[in-house]
Amino acid sequence: MKVALSETPDPTSEGEHAEDNPAGRLGRDMFSLVSELYPICRSITGDGVRRSLDIIERTIPLTRSEVPTGTGVFDWEVPKEWNVRDAWIKNARGERVVDFRTCNLHVLNYSAAIHAVLPLAELRRHLFSIPEHPTWIPYRTSYYRDAWGFCVTQQQLETLRDDEYEVMIDSSLTNGSLTYAECYLPGTSTDEILISCHICHPSLCNDNLSGISVAVFLARELLGRGHRYSYRFLFIPGTIGAITWLAHNQSRVERIKHGLVLTCLGDRGAFHYKRSRRGAAEIDRAMAHVLRSSGGPHQILEFSPYGYDERQFCSPGFNLPVGCLMRSVWGTFPEYHTSADNLQFIDPDALQESFDVCRAVLELLEQNRTFRGTNPFCEPALGRRGLYRSTGGGSVDPGNLALLWVLNLADGAHSLLDIAERSGMAFPVIAAAANELASHALLVEAESESQR
Ligand code: ZN
Repeated sequence: MKVALSETPDPTSEGEHAEDNPAGRLGRDMFSLVSELYPICRSITGDGVRRSLDIIERTIPLTRSEVPTGTGVFDWEVPKEWNVRDAWIKNARGERVVDFRTCNLHVLNYSAAIHAVLPLAELRRHLFSIPEHPTWIPYRTSYYRDAWGFCVTQQQLETLRDDEYEVMIDSSLTNGSLTYAECYLPGTSTDEILISCHICHPSLCNDNLSGISVAVFLARELLGRGHRYSYRFLFIPGTIGAITWLAHNQSRVERIKHGLVLTCLGDRGAFHYKRSRRGAAEIDRAMAHVLRSSGGPHQILEFSPYGYDERQFCSPGFNLPVGCLMRSVWGTFPEYHTSADNLQFIDPDALQESFDVCRAVLELLEQNRTFRGTNPFCEPALGRRGLYRSTGGGSVDPGNLALLWVLNLADGAHSLLDIAERSGMAFPVIAAAANELASHALLVEAESESQR
């Protein structure tokens, strides 16, 4: 049986990424991080999460939390900690016919320990496969229930003859803790932008590792520059991690002005952005504007109470402005939650594009302010100030048009994003026009009368 580990392409051997192309290099760096995290067996608790955080911490600073088993978090309880060391099924000749060491998806995630000899008929009740994709291993979990099992390829299943099999899962479910980490980057304001990704899936690249990698490199990029907002990056196990974090930070969430859940960002599909529960929050409008301006294929999805941790952030008691950015949507691609969501399924250029979209959205949020014109009675004389570009032709110079849009709508009630949307011009063009006008004292920033 071929497993993805042995088919890992060398990310440095891809010729189309020139060394002097920093954009391509970033995509490759993100791919390398995914490759390094890929073999680790993660779950919602346990050493796999800690080892993954050790690797992330080489790139960005982290603050870790360990929340003990049994801690009450809203309507939930932190579960027992799960760790697995080995698992296998041996045939009557003592050969490992299913082996955790070749792929960690083989063990049902959170499986109870077992060591027994069973006839095939009984063993089969504990085996999971995907008949329509006979060479793929499914990813299955048994959180919050007492079960044991193995995930196998359909081909493996079909080669098992009627015989006695020895099964062994060397796992432990003990009182321990749930691990999560934050990377907090203070800005000039205490208002926060939250970026969250789940770290609980084992060897799955698009669903899990792609979001982690984009988040890590966004944080690294922000580390090296000044910013207005404070940023909080969360690396948390799905669902129970978000619930635990929210339970421990309930009094601080009002600082979160915008948020994004990042997942499935490494495949080659079109972008999908799922709006926050609010539907028209600034993050929702910013993301729609950036995706539209990019000219690439994309789709905006309405909020639904299913999916990733936006479900928790957007639960009615919090109702935070947190959307979810994906390329292909979970559950819609056949590789989802299977061993085919591997290093071949993701692409450095796709990671780079995902990073670029996130970066553009953060830059938009950083620059989105509300101004008031100092000269609202008729247009100010731009030519006298050297601001009007004379083209001599019949068409309107786009730079001039941007200045006129900003001057017209900068009345203390419209943000720069409002102006970009209404003018149909890209946000950076509008922001540049506003900066130019402000430098000539034709605009002043409206006081904190705006929405924030
Ligand atoms: Zn998943």
